[in-house]
Amino acid sequence: MAEAGSFADKVKQQADIVRVVGEYVRLKKSGQNFTGLCPFHSEKSPSFAVHPVKQIYHCFGCGVGGDVFQFVMEMEKCGFPEAVRTVAEKCGIAVPAPRERSPEERKENQQRAQLVEMHREAQAFFVKCLEGTAEGKAARAYLEDRGLDKEAMARFGLGYAPSGGDVLLRHLKQRYPDKLLLESGLISRDQSGRLFDRFRRRVIFPIANEAGKIVAFGGRALGDDMPKYLNSPETPIYSKSNVLYHMDRAKEALRRQDFAVLVEGYMDAIAVARAGVSNVVASCGTSLAEAQIKLLGRFTKRVVVNYDPDTAGQAATERSLALLLEQDFEVRVLALPPIGDKKADPDLFIREKGAKAYLQQLKEAPPYVDYLIARARQMDLSSGEGKLRAVNYLMPYLQKIPNKLLRSEWATRISQQLRVDEPVLRESLRKAAAERRSEVKAKPELVGRPARPVERRLIRMLAEAEEFRVVLAQQLQESQLYLGLETEKIIAALILANLSGEPVQVTELTGMLEERERRLLFEILFEGPMEATWAEAESCLEALRKRQMERELAELQRQIEASAPGPQMRALLERKQTLMRQMLPPPAPAERPQ
Ligand SMILES: [Zn+2]
Repeated sequence: MAEAGSFADKVKQQADIVRVVGEYVRLKKSGQNFTGLCPFHSEKSPSFAVHPVKQIYHCFGCGVGGDVFQFVMEMEKCGFPEAVRTVAEKCGIAVPAPRERSPEERKENQQRAQLVEMHREAQAFFVKCLEGTAEGKAARAYLEDRGLDKEAMARFGLGYAPSGGDVLLRHLKQRYPDKLLLESGLISRDQSGRLFDRFRRRVIFPIANEAGKIVAFGGRALGDDMPKYLNSPETPIYSKSNVLYHMDRAKEALRRQDFAVLVEGYMDAIAVARAGVSNVVASCGTSLAEAQIKLLGRFTKRVVVNYDPDTAGQAATERSLALLLEQDFEVRVLALPPIGDKKADPDLFIREKGAKAYLQQLKEAPPYVDYLIARARQMDLSSGEGKLRAVNYLMPYLQKIPNKLLRSEWATRISQQLRVDEPVLRESLRKAAAERRSEVKAKPELVGRPARPVERRLIRMLAEAEEFRVVLAQQLQESQLYLGLETEKIIAALILANLSGEPVQVTELTGMLEERERRLLFEILFEGPMEATWAEAESCLEALRKRQMERELAELQRQIEASAPGPQMRALLERKQTLMRQMLPPPAPAERPQ
């Protein structure tokens, strides 16, 4: 990423990763490395390590790793240029003025900045309307009725859009051209070409992006106006499927608690956050988008889905479940018990039963399979046909469970709970449990099969043995002994780096590697001190050579067994003899024939 001679490269040469990481993580010296509690997953004993010589970090728990820029990008959730700037600032390196952008790019950036500024102004306007107007009084009464006091209204930036039809328009049109007003989605145009406010007579919820900038609004109708909820349209600064409500305020808690509570609406998110659960986000609407899941996945892979208990909410829960499972989330489902005869969404439940009762429910939220079985049991199970329907409903979810043992456990449980005695149904459940749908991506293995010690040693030498790493690379290249190894790609990348004549920069290699291989490489580089001799390198090469011969021998044996007697078989047998002689250690002196 950091091209030689570039500013990023300069920063990288001068920056000290221990100092930069140390600003986020309490690091302790441990041998040649520094260790601490991983900031990317929750843990009690440190498995996060920083290598001061190689200037890299690696977590043996969750597998993250990279150089100082990657660390800052992950930590600050920012892009590469911003990470370079941040590191430069932290290390006191002067930052050059940004490169001149293309005119279009500059114009787009300018427009986005203006739209963000317009939203900030609109937000202040809506807040003022809620606080200080006669109309706003009704909105305040509505919110108070929903249990929100002044402090809560201020904390979540709630506002009010008056009914006039052009109140916001008049407020904004001095400063912004019509075209930009229409771009913002705050102002619409009717058929006669007249401009008017999109939000009228509505309680306003500001929607912020991840960085906390307001980019859209949601409006709840105060009267019987339809629709009940109205959102900003898609604009240059807002894409519904990329934003989760309350994400900007939930980030820290998501990281700290390592799970998210996912709710449907603004009011739910606010109620849950006020109950003390800051790690709550709302999908704002019943369907969760894949981009929203990916956004959440950058902070945690564990989620409790707490959607409304109505039919739409249940359908949404099931749709979201499928999506979350596909993205490898660990999912629990909280279906709140009804209050009296009223179905309870999080907002209502907390208002009626209090924060403590909600927290208890949250703690006891069952894994999603339990939730689904409970749903299936509500179906008519009196007939074989009904049971078939219930089993078919559960099957696709069952097949998304990554772990095979767990799948078969659940299959047994399903047949018990649904009283499936029919052999045919039991058989199809058993079958479903035995195979996992290929559409579901398998969990990436943390590290593949542990690489053999010989390969690990060679990798270490290729990266660090300054006296002979280049010669070693040449020999491996010529003999091709590394082909077919578990670590083939890692070794190939290291050979290439060695033969380039430059010093080996570990983080430059990672572009050529899969994530799994990158992790393995980092893990190997963090292994204790490395003092290697050329003799050891030779013995490693010898071990590879032997392994290659063993493989050839096995292949020969296979061919011999498959072929009929004749000249071909004789040739195979001869080759086998030669190989076996080569593989035998030289006889010990005492056994030497006299
Ligand atoms: Zn970690």
